[in-house]
This record gives sequence, structure tokens and C-alpha cells, in this order.
Amino acid sequence: MSEVTLSIPGSDSREPDNRIPLLNSANAQEARRVLDLCNACRYCEGFCATFQALSQRREVLWQELDYFSNLCHNCTACYHACQYAPPHEFSINVPLALGRVRADSYQRYAWPGFLAPLFQRNGLILSLVTAVVLSLILVIGSLFLNHQVLFAQLSQPGAFYTIVSHRLMVTVAGLVFLYGLVSMTISVRRFCLDCGTAGGKGSWRGLKQALQSAATLRYLGGGHGQGCNTENEGYSNQRRVYHQLTMWGFLLCFAATCAATLYELGLGRISPFPYFSLPVILGASGGVAILVGTAGLTWTKLRTDTRPADVSSYGMDFGFLALLFFVSLTGLVLLGLRETSAMGVLLLVHLGFVLSLFLVLPYSKFVHAIYRFAALVCFHEEELQQNRQSHQSDT
Ligand code: SF4
Ligand code: SF4
Repeated sequence: MSEVTLSIPGSDSREPDNRIPLLNSANAQEARRVLDLCNACRYCEGFCATFQALSQRREVLWQELDYFSNLCHNCTACYHACQYAPPHEFSINVPLALGRVRADSYQRYAWPGFLAPLFQRNGLILSLVTAVVLSLILVIGSLFLNHQVLFAQLSQPGAFYTIVSHRLMVTVAGLVFLYGLVSMTISVRRFCLDCGTAGGKGSWRGLKQALQSAATLRYLGGGHGQGCNTENEGYSNQRRVYHQLTMWGFLLCFAATCAATLYELGLGRISPFPYFSLPVILGASGGVAILVGTAGLTWTKLRTDTRPADVSSYGMDFGFLALLFFVSLTGLVLLGLRETSAMGVLLLVHLGFVLSLFLVLPYSKFVHAIYRFAALVCFHEEELQQNRQSHQSDT
């Protein structure tokens, strides 16, 4: 793989220097070529944040490629609208060019970086193998150490901790969660330092606007609100709906974990909690939302026109969707069968999938959510700065 290098943020050089190596020069060169042509054409100006950011500058700098690529969410509207798309000799394919740079950015900012290429290529297999191996280790370990209760029918408060002690569960899950958190914090910090296109200055207003755009998935509606071109020229809001379900499902499950912690530490109640308690209602509704959302996203992706898509990163995409799907499925099955003798094994399998999710999170498609949010913060901040400048020049 050949390398080119980038100039640091703040520099206005159009020429590469040797400070920030890019993973793949061919991808970077192609993205620059495509964006330069789009900046001259500007037909797609209102389509999305990528084109709006493009219209705010005369030219795209090397260090801004990761910013632009993570602003794009591959709706493919510009591909279907483009008069220069293949077979035209200009061969303009913005979603593909930005998709490849985006995939490179996931590898470039990952920490520790040596695992990132493995998940990029074989994300689906590696994610599922990690989950199955962890589940087997937990079940076999329990068979040796705690076999007398593993198949017992337990439903009283504290039943889960009879299978795995509270201390062990909190220690292992806490360490794995901490690892994921530290790894992603380092990655997103690297990304923000390289993509500090708004001069590194943030404001609450910019952050609020970015939160609104992310919470409503505003740009997945296309510039017109009718959605993405998933299969062809026709618009559909399916991707936006499935994304919403997955995102809010994930947040509901996170809220369920917080509520359960509050119940145990604040109120002295021990899990498993009643079916109509807050942690169970939040967790169950989040789990169902994730099941529908991830299944829908997988189905949509399988039917998507692959010409404007970077299929080399499909392993990473499907791996994350599959892992989320199985975490929810194992959690819901555990909830349904927690009063039977299968509870012990189901709990350990669910824990195995949850642990593997947190382990692979920094190398999975989940990073798309944090880089995209960081890019949106930069975008809205840049917009606010532009508005302030034009207001000052008017007065
Ligand atoms: S994608 Fe095509 S039509 Fe759209 S701005 Fe670029 S060159 Fe113009
Ligand atoms: S694919 Fe969609 S999000 Fe990406 S640049 Fe084109 S219009 Fe914007």
C-alpha cells in the first residue's frame, strides 16, 4: 500500500508533507480529484453537509479529507444525480471516493492500531468468533467451578450472582468497558486534532446544533427529506428509520444499565428485577429496537446498489450489526427464560456477547458514530463562524 502524507491543520498547503501519513494515497488522490470537480460544479450543493462544507471553501486541503469523508453518510444521492458519473470519462463517484477515505480514517485513528486492519477485512467473522469463544470460556469455566448451580432453577433476587459473582461481573465488565472507552477517546481526539477545520474553537451553540442533527439523523433524509437512494434513483427513508431504531435502542439499553446500577447501589434492590421495573422496561424496549434496526440495516445494505459503495469495508459493517443483533437477542431470550434451568447458560452466553461487543467496539463500525458526530460539531461550528463573519461584514 503506497503512502502520501498530509499537512497539519492550520496549514494552507495543497501539497502533502511528511507529518501525517495517509494509509492509501490512491484513495486520497481520488477523493481530492472528485471534490475539486464537485467544488467547480456545485450542482449537489444542498444535498448534505458534505456539499455545504465544500461550498464554504475554495479548495479542499489534504488534512480535511477525513473531515469530508466522515460528513458523508453514503446516501448516494449525488451519485444518482451526477452527470459526470461513470460511464462519463470524468468518472465521478463521490460516495465511493469518500467511503474509501472514511474506511482508511477508521484504521488511521484506531488505538491500538494493529488490530484495525484485521477487523476492516474480516470484521464479521472476527466479531462472531470473539463472542462465541468468550461465551464458551465462561460456560466451560462455570461447568468446572460452579456446575452445581449452573443448571439450577433460580429466580430469587441475586440469582444472576449465584452464577457469576457480583464482584467478578463488575470487575471484568468494568475493565473491558474502560478499555473501549480509553481506546475510543484516544481515537476521537486524534481525529479531532487532524480535522480541526473550525480552528479548534467550539461553542455550545455548535455542539447543540450537532446534537440536534445527530439525534434526528437530519442528513439521512437527503437534502429534500425523502431519504436515501438505497437501490436506485428512488428515495427511501428506510435507512433513516432503521438507523434511528438502532441508535435509540442502544441508548435505551445504556439507560437500562444505568437504572439497574441505581437500583442496586442506590435503592438496595438486587437483580433480576420484576418485569415491570424501569431497568427491564428500558432494556427490553431497547433490545427490540436494536433487533429490528440492525436486521433492517443489514437487509437494506444487502439490497443496496454496490457501485457507489466501498464493499471492502462491508465485513466491518456487518460485523458490528451482527454483534449488536446477537447481544439483543441473547438478552431478550435470557429475559424470557430467566426463571427456567437454562438461565445460567443463557446469562453466560449473553455476557460473552456483551464483553466481545465492548472489546471490538473501537475497531467496529461504531466508530462511525463518534467520528461523524465530531465532524458534525466541526461543520456546525464552521457554519456559525461563517454566519458571524458575513453578519460583521454587513454591518
Ligand atoms: S457529484 Fe457530480 S453533479 Fe454533483 S457536484 Fe459533484 S460533479 Fe457536480
Ligand atoms: S453520498 Fe450523500 S451524504 Fe455522501 S456526499 Fe453524496 S449526497 Fe452527501
